Amino acid sequence: MRIKLITLLLLFLWAIVATNTVSANDTLIETNERYYYFNSEINIRTYASPDIDLTPVHEAIDELLLRVHCVSTRYDDPAIDCDGFTQVKDLNNNPGTETIVDEIVVDMIDMSVNYYNDPRTGGKFNIALGKVIDVWAMYTDMCQIEGNCVVPELEELEAAATNIDLNTISYDLDANTVMVPEGMELDLGAIAKGYGAKMVGELLRDEFDDILDAWMIDAGTSNIEFYGNHPSDERDYWIGTLRDPFSPTQGYANVTIYSGQNLVTSGDYDRYYTVDGVNYHHLIDPDTLFPSNHIRGVTIISNDPALGDIYSTIAFILPLEDAIAFIDDVDDVEGIWVDEDGYVHMSEGFEDTHMRNYIEPRERFDQAVDTGQSTVVIILFSILGVITVAFIIVVLTERKKTEASPSESE
Ligand code: ADP
Ligand code: MG
Repeated sequence: MRIKLITLLLLFLWAIVATNTVSANDTLIETNERYYYFNSEINIRTYASPDIDLTPVHEAIDELLLRVHCVSTRYDDPAIDCDGFTQVKDLNNNPGTETIVDEIVVDMIDMSVNYYNDPRTGGKFNIALGKVIDVWAMYTDMCQIEGNCVVPELEELEAAATNIDLNTISYDLDANTVMVPEGMELDLGAIAKGYGAKMVGELLRDEFDDILDAWMIDAGTSNIEFYGNHPSDERDYWIGTLRDPFSPTQGYANVTIYSGQNLVTSGDYDRYYTVDGVNYHHLIDPDTLFPSNHIRGVTIISNDPALGDIYSTIAFILPLEDAIAFIDDVDDVEGIWVDEDGYVHMSEGFEDTHMRNYIEPRERFDQAVDTGQSTVVIILFSILGVITVAFIIVVLTERKKTEASPSESE
């Protein structure tokens, strides 16, 4: 009897330990780690069992982002030590000199040149606009720092665009060499962050797949990649909210994104200055040398964050119809645009594949105008009502007075 009791007790204790162990392994811990590169905050969220030490993951990500940032930047950032890296800055400072660079720089240049020469893109993706971008950056600073808000003259922009023909760059994919011609300033700003996100994704998939259940890479809110099942209820999709360019703190659409996909947004509402009601932002049309102004924002959903970054810049600058035709022509890529009047446009498969619900910014804008107009009408009617009541009271009081006081004629 005693032995039976002891066995039962042991079984009971084992059951408690076993259930706890299982539930501990089942409970995934969410960890958010922030990195500061590409002039942006990169937030990487991972889901893993509580007993996993994530230090090697964080260190490997940091090392990789430092490399992509340093080799692709053309600016000095005092907070980031790029000693020992050959940078795009070095290529720009030594025109006409063949220089050995990191293979990822040659790869980024090669991808950019291919899209520049792709007839569907109208040459809108141009990584040789460095000097033109500098002119716009100077005018943006003048406005934001000194309050002197003016638009540069076309001559000044043209003088900065002496050579923006990407086919005059020579590079060798095997030897990892690049030579930038005289008068050109490379700027990889439209691809480096996406390329970094892509490399981090590959690192997490290749090296840490056994310890990470799911993750999200949020590179500066404009480039977000998802992987694994969403941990909250094991669903196989994630939900992303797209920002309304007319009211960037609000969302205008919720979209479904599957594991391995990413969304990249380009818009005119984060980095810009305003003159006479026009936003002069950071995405330059190489044909006009001015910021392109026919849409307010575009989001691309694809399987490759580096390509997504290139596509979103192209899809922002191309005229809307050409942009939609281009995205429709690329397999497994969808896009959604908000035009300057607040109307939403989508590529062929967007609605079926990704859309959960949306409100056109235009509709919200009209509602606000309607509410505004109704408020004015209500206020006017209220004022009229008060005046009428006051008038009636005055008339009645006067009449009472006349009735009460004996008239002189009586
Ligand atoms: P963000 O960095 O805001 O996510 P993008 O990925 O769209 O935006 O890239 C913006 C950067 O691309 C600009 O800051 C500039 O360095 C560069 N750029 C501007 N116009 C062009 C263009 N026509 N082609 C390629 N790069 C561009
Ligand atoms: Mg881009």
